[in-house]
Amino acid sequence: MVNFGRIIGAVLFFYILSIAVAGQTVPASKDFASAAQIELLAKLTGKKAVKVSFEIGNEKRTLKRQREVKLTDRYSVFARKASANLLYRSLRQEGIKPQRHSYTTELGHVNTPKQGTNIYAIIPATIKSDEYVLLGAHYDSVKGSPGANDNASGTVLVLGVALQILKLNERKRNFIIVFFDQEERGLIGSRMFARKLKRDGMNLHSAHTVDQMGWDADGDKAIEIELPTPALEKAYRQEAAKLSITVHKTNVPSTDHTAFREIGFNAIGVTEEYKKRRHDPALPQRHGYL
Ligand SMILES: [Zn+2]
Repeated sequence: MVNFGRIIGAVLFFYILSIAVAGQTVPASKDFASAAQIELLAKLTGKKAVKVSFEIGNEKRTLKRQREVKLTDRYSVFARKASANLLYRSLRQEGIKPQRHSYTTELGHVNTPKQGTNIYAIIPATIKSDEYVLLGAHYDSVKGSPGANDNASGTVLVLGVALQILKLNERKRNFIIVFFDQEERGLIGSRMFARKLKRDGMNLHSAHTVDQMGWDADGDKAIEIELPTPALEKAYRQEAAKLSITVHKTNVPSTDHTAFREIGFNAIGVTEEYKKRRHDPALPQRHGYL
């Protein structure tokens, strides 16, 4: 059972933190369990149906149709596409202009090149700034799992943070909000996105990626930060202290933040009880069931 209160608490933390990193402090609001987040969580995890488009017909004439399906995972090409479209619509409904970053990998991955789509949006600074703070989470899951914790939880967290950032009267830096594809296949979406930012000459202040925020079996509400730079560690610890949240630093590299660090950007991973989890294979927190 994914603990939504846990996600909301994490949103609060992450929001304040991201703003602090962006050079400003904003009073915390308790209003984080937005209807948009609850809806998105339900649809990503197959509790509620999502709309999918398909075409019928032949080469001469095709007709577009829509139907509703409940996702059983976010692993297949079909399910990832449906999820990407859902995320695109969710951002647009909230007044954030979404963009698609579709990619095909080059050789280097065994077998056939991989194709996928990251969904992202820029929330611009309100003053002149060429710096960007990236907040991201992967939306894909492993095969056969609704991936509620891994990583619908991080995905809805990032949406919540985006909505709060959008409401600010003043933003000292630009924000990039991004939902990565194919993390579970080897950080493919985030690596392709990091490369794109590099290629575009983007002045990235820092990349913050969130993975698995819904699990807190011991109820201590602690948050783990993965491989932070010293400056980011300091910022997280300062903000966490204000909220009396315990922070554990870990060296876990196995998620999207690595994609940014390995290409030379400042990066940090945010998670819940990953390193400190009990090593019981029967526990569902790794890939998460509702
Ligand atoms: Zn994950």
